[in-house]
Amino acid sequence: MQDGSGPRQASSDGLTTLKDRLAREITGEVLFDSFNRGRYATDASFYQIMPAGVVVPKTVEEALRALAICRDQGRIVTPRGGGTSQCGQTVNDGIVIDFSKHLNRIISLDVGNRTCVVEPGIVLDDLNRQLKPRGLWFPVDVSTASRATIGGMAGNNSCGGRSLRYGTMRDNTIAMDAALANGARLHFGEVPRDLANLNLNDTGRNLFRDMLALGEREAVEIAERFPKVQRRVGGYNLDALVPRNAANNMAHLLVGSEGTLAFTTQVELKLWPLIRNKVQGVCHFGSFYEAMDAAQHLVKLRPIAVELVDRTMIALGRDIAMFRPVIDATVRGDPDALLIVEFAEEDQTDNLQKLKLLSELMADLGFGWNNPQRKWGGVVDVVEPATQTAISDFRTSGLNVMMSMKQQGKPVSFVEDCAVPLPHLADYTKRLGAIFAKHGTSGTMYAHASEGCLHVRPVLNLRLEKDVKAMRAIAEETFEMVREYKGSHSGEHGDGLVRSEFHEAMFGARITGDFREVKHRFDPENLLNPGKIVDPPKMDDRELFRYRPDYRVAELNTRLEWSAYPGSGGGFQGAVEMCNNNGACRKLEGGVMCPSYRATRNEKDVTRGRANTLRLAISGQLGPDALSSDEMMDTLKLCVSCKACRHECPTGVDMAKMKIEVLAARAKKHGLSLRDRLVGYLPHYAALASRLAPLANWRNRSPLLRALFERFAGISAKRVLPEFRRDVFTSDADSVGPADGREVVLFADTFNRAYERENLDAALRVLVEGGYRVHLPKPADSGRPLCCGRTFLSAGLVDNARAELDRLVKTYAPFAARGVPIVGLEPSCLLTLRDELLSLRSDDTAKNISAHALLFEEFLVREAEAGRLALPLGPIAEKALVHGHCHQKSFGAFKPVEKILRLVPDLKVETIESSCCGMAGAFGYGAETYDTSMQMAELSLLPAVRRADAAALIVADGTSCRHQIKDGAGRGALHVARVLAMSLDSPRNLPSPSSHAKEPAHG
Ligand SMILES: Cc1cc2nc3c(=O)[nH]c(=O)nc-3n(C[C@H](O)[C@H](O)[C@H](O)COP(=O)(O)OP(=O)(O)OC[C@H]3O[C@@H](n4cnc5c(N)ncnc54)[C@H](O)[C@@H]3O)c2cc1C
Ligand code: SF4
Ligand code: SF4
Repeated sequence: MQDGSGPRQASSDGLTTLKDRLAREITGEVLFDSFNRGRYATDASFYQIMPAGVVVPKTVEEALRALAICRDQGRIVTPRGGGTSQCGQTVNDGIVIDFSKHLNRIISLDVGNRTCVVEPGIVLDDLNRQLKPRGLWFPVDVSTASRATIGGMAGNNSCGGRSLRYGTMRDNTIAMDAALANGARLHFGEVPRDLANLNLNDTGRNLFRDMLALGEREAVEIAERFPKVQRRVGGYNLDALVPRNAANNMAHLLVGSEGTLAFTTQVELKLWPLIRNKVQGVCHFGSFYEAMDAAQHLVKLRPIAVELVDRTMIALGRDIAMFRPVIDATVRGDPDALLIVEFAEEDQTDNLQKLKLLSELMADLGFGWNNPQRKWGGVVDVVEPATQTAISDFRTSGLNVMMSMKQQGKPVSFVEDCAVPLPHLADYTKRLGAIFAKHGTSGTMYAHASEGCLHVRPVLNLRLEKDVKAMRAIAEETFEMVREYKGSHSGEHGDGLVRSEFHEAMFGARITGDFREVKHRFDPENLLNPGKIVDPPKMDDRELFRYRPDYRVAELNTRLEWSAYPGSGGGFQGAVEMCNNNGACRKLEGGVMCPSYRATRNEKDVTRGRANTLRLAISGQLGPDALSSDEMMDTLKLCVSCKACRHECPTGVDMAKMKIEVLAARAKKHGLSLRDRLVGYLPHYAALASRLAPLANWRNRSPLLRALFERFAGISAKRVLPEFRRDVFTSDADSVGPADGREVVLFADTFNRAYERENLDAALRVLVEGGYRVHLPKPADSGRPLCCGRTFLSAGLVDNARAELDRLVKTYAPFAARGVPIVGLEPSCLLTLRDELLSLRSDDTAKNISAHALLFEEFLVREAEAGRLALPLGPIAEKALVHGHCHQKSFGAFKPVEKILRLVPDLKVETIESSCCGMAGAFGYGAETYDTSMQMAELSLLPAVRRADAAALIVADGTSCRHQIKDGAGRGALHVARVLAMSLDSPRNLPSPSSHAKEPAHG
């Protein structure tokens, strides 16, 4: 990576010295093992460079201490935020310093002047969450707002979708405090051109003087060679140095410098009032070319954004259930392209006026709904906020839709964000399409039409030399075309390894020489993130690729079905490689993914870190047997198998399923721990334990036994285990309820049967009162009760799980064949039939069982919506506070819980915005995972429960969730079935002289 001009890299002895010294002098994490280094070897680009080590400093002083130690030892350093760069900015072979975990505070906030000072590791969404109550926000709204840090955004000079109004990161940065490679700390802000009277140390004065002199010297060349488009983030911002005004802002030189000039220690930001009113006009076009041509006219109405959605995206969106409604509501006819024009004036009347002007403008441009294909079009007004959000979500999901392709060829980011002046946009897109076609590929175009900056990724397989060649040719031809239009080859995502090589072609040799001069003046030893912006390697150097020419995955012995994906292990390889490092799993709020990261903020404990580790392991980059190693177990230790990633990761990385493979490999190689046996074999011994309940529960009452269980079985002494009972749920009859009632099978899972029969009793009661004929079939083999095999899966005992499921399938098959729904109460058990069952069996009988498996609430809502549910429900409480089980959320099965509870008269249903409860099966009982389990629960669930009124019902369908709530907040939580049963028993429903049973509630 380094050229001769950089510091010499230390020998392995030197590395040990470096590591020891860092570990001695830094209290934050110092990570030098291959697993941890591997997790920092990639970002959202297609590159991979193994760093020598990683430091996660606890304070700014520690970060600078690490920098000084690396300098002493001759090691290069790369600062890093969320690691979401698309161009390889954060990968290098020295020491990576991760600012995101600890350096994330707002240092000061000045509401009156609308400014704040923040540490560089703060995440944009987190900042905006804290600003919102003050009526302010930081408006550089990058798509990665949930994980991009302000330090990283400044490093890349990031731009949001609304940059038309708010500008780029540079436009919103007032000042930066930073440390040079030699450790000198400087304040970079606005300075007069005459520095004589400025209070500045010599280092700063000399540096700024030289920079301003360079700006003056090169002013003509800069004016000539720097593209005039707003979206120009390539190279160093030399234009900030030219003598335009009396003052220059030196921070603007640091913005966009990609960690190559200095370590940012704090950033002063300009804040804006929150947007209060907004409308959107969805402009329709019969031809893509006409849409692109219209953009230059639409911006004259001063919208805050004009975003493109093309025909391919509309078609893909129509196939996705969550997008279909908004497309149906807002898309008219069969457009070739849409431009979503957004207005945000202070007053809503002005916004509505703008919509009127937009329609008039479209008509003036010759578009009409009754025209033929050519000049067909018009505007659909969207005023309702929820629909606006739905359209915006659809637009911003463009990349996700594209990236979810399961083949080895993927949409590749390298010409993704070129920007051209708007008058050329139509020609540019036409010629770009021709370039792609010439090289045998294609790509969807979407995003920032208002800035002439369209996102476009041709589909290529970078494991193939021919596709790498095509990539280079496309890059060269595209950049040449962009230059012709006086556009910018780097319009949003920065330079990194992808773009820096082309600076000379785009800016000319003289400006590139200036870039080198700046770098040398700041960092003469080439210590800070070398190889970016100046002296880069070739962008198509395959040795730097994630999939290098020697990348191989040996044949893997996998246990589950992965055939939807390509590659080894029946497709397991392809599933692992789906992670493109976009970092969505690092979000800190909203949804569920990834609860363990939210608790620890460690790269190791996020879906991305786990997927990267798996990829490196299966491709032999972490040594032999890495898949079943202790380090791999440590990597997956805090994965609670919540399945949130399966649903929320844009590419559908399913870590819970992958974890089963790893556990199976581990169990095969190393056998099972006592705890795994106790958990896994629960269905086998539950009946006996129930008969011996007092004895089996003795552990909970004896401090000594608790201690011994912790010592020998790894079960935390702090936990009360669920109690066995003698009166487990059983039924002598195979069926109950009216003989002519609609049929349903009730699946009595092991947990509810053994520990909480009240839930099954309640469900049975509700179903029977609802007029259903409920089947409780005995196992076809007349053996012990049925089970879904979940506990075996959590221990990696795949064959045992399969055996359990085989019994279940055999028993339920005749019912499923007749179309009888199979209803269960415990989300993790019932949803095993919809998920893992199909990974273990692909026969039609299993598929049929899976297709008929419904959660209790799903079934009732379906019945209610079909007008078939008649339950005499009465009021029971004013409020219910509901916590959704992760698996319910992952399978889109949570809404029915809210819906069914709303059938209870007078009950206000409120959902707790919670991620995983932290108990997650056996996870929360582990001695070594207890603390993390409680941390997860304390993020939002337990505080919300504690705040709840004593009279409110706490509702949670998951056995583990109820236990966690009891353990952590001391409150009992109810399964929905029990809430409904209580409602049936409501006093208002009891016959009395004056009133009869309440009218049945019809859904
Ligand atoms: C799906 C997807 C969508 C994206 N959408 C957008 C978008 O809408 N707009 C946009 O502009 N970008 C976008 N990006 C690119 C990227 O997310 C942004 O550039 C983001 O701001 C980077 O933030 P980060 O914290 O991940 O920074 P990193 O990737 O961690 O770092 C970025 C650069 O900053 C440097 N850096 C980090 N911390 C410091 C520090 N303390 N001192 C000095 N240098 C530092 C790093 O060395 C690196 O060069 C997108 C990326 C993806 C994957
Ligand atoms: S696991 Fe999914 S969300 Fe996380 S980085 Fe990978 S692709 Fe993105
Ligand atoms: S299953 Fe849950 S805990 Fe595990 S990686 Fe996915 S989101 Fe994170």
